[in-house]
Amino acid sequence: MPILRVALMSLLAGLVGCGSIAKPKVEPALTRHAFEHDAMGATFRIVLYGADEPSAKAAADAGFDRIHALNAVLSDYDRASELSKLSDTAGSGRWVRVSDDLWKVMRSSHELSVKSGGAFDITVGPVVQLWRWARRNRQMPSAERLAAATSAVGYEKIEYDEAKQSVKLTAPNMRLDVGAIGKGYACAEAMNLLKERGFNRAMIDCGSSTVVGDAPPGRKGWRIGIASLNPRETPPSKYVVLANGGVCTSGDAWQFIELDGQRYSHIVDPKTGLGLTDHSSVTVVTPQGILADGISTAISVLGPQKGLEFVEQFKGAAAFIVRKPGDEIEIYESKRVKDLVIDAPKE
Ligand code: AMP
Ligand code: MG
Repeated sequence: MPILRVALMSLLAGLVGCGSIAKPKVEPALTRHAFEHDAMGATFRIVLYGADEPSAKAAADAGFDRIHALNAVLSDYDRASELSKLSDTAGSGRWVRVSDDLWKVMRSSHELSVKSGGAFDITVGPVVQLWRWARRNRQMPSAERLAAATSAVGYEKIEYDEAKQSVKLTAPNMRLDVGAIGKGYACAEAMNLLKERGFNRAMIDCGSSTVVGDAPPGRKGWRIGIASLNPRETPPSKYVVLANGGVCTSGDAWQFIELDGQRYSHIVDPKTGLGLTDHSSVTVVTPQGILADGISTAISVLGPQKGLEFVEQFKGAAAFIVRKPGDEIEIYESKRVKDLVIDAPKE
């Protein structure tokens, strides 16, 4: 009897909506596909669930192509990128019309600068270049060179013409560096592309930034490790479980220079031009991929107290901060962390 009832129900389900006899719709079995590709000085990894390998690969390749195209817009290493050419116009008085991608990245950056009171600032280019020189030469930049580089910094020295999608860099020697937001934007854009192709159950990761779509089949979300202070030695002890959002970690774990016993991060305080000296790792979770990257850099500069206030300005965002200013490790969590973070499973 129960068998008969099931058969009758599926027949009815087939009839409803079609007006004729049709087979009930069966979801194809989804399998996991993973791809890797080097771009923007990082390794990007795309994991997605799809019915077959060729279409999954075609979608991942389209995502990687999009990331390459964004590198040609956003790179400050490439002198021919749109960003570098814009920096070349600094102080000339010229308005420059910019592409949709550069516009979106610059407007998001401006929002982050305003909300962080200038802790986040893409005009740090000359200062970042000076610290790259210091890392190559293992030498502290002189006070004169630091002062000269810092004098060109200030997000308010960029003017925006919304109607013409144009910008003007008003101070001579200004140089833009979107390294704190570009990879997050690239991951978010590649994710949009995967979703357009129907691959909603997907994840894109480039080490520091991760953007995820719908959860893997049968799961609540993607499990993403929260980087420890020393990720080379210590695996994550906590994880974020997330669907449709971004996770990003900023800190001095991978990029820093030690001079005269002092450790300087690749993240700089735009006000002083100095690399940050407090050993820290800031992980931010947001519903939009692009913002997690910028917010985590901003919090690194703001420090824990101001950082936790700052993150509350962004709807749905959460911040997890680990610091070691002296011998002791300090942990700070924003309000939403408890909804998103779980402990690592016991071995
Ligand atoms: P992230 O790893 O996302 O925190 O970005 C760090 C990179 O952003 C650095 O390597 C610099 O290129 C750039 N940067 C450094 N300090 C700042 C800052 N205060 N605001 C914006 N970008 C920064
Ligand atoms: Mg960042």
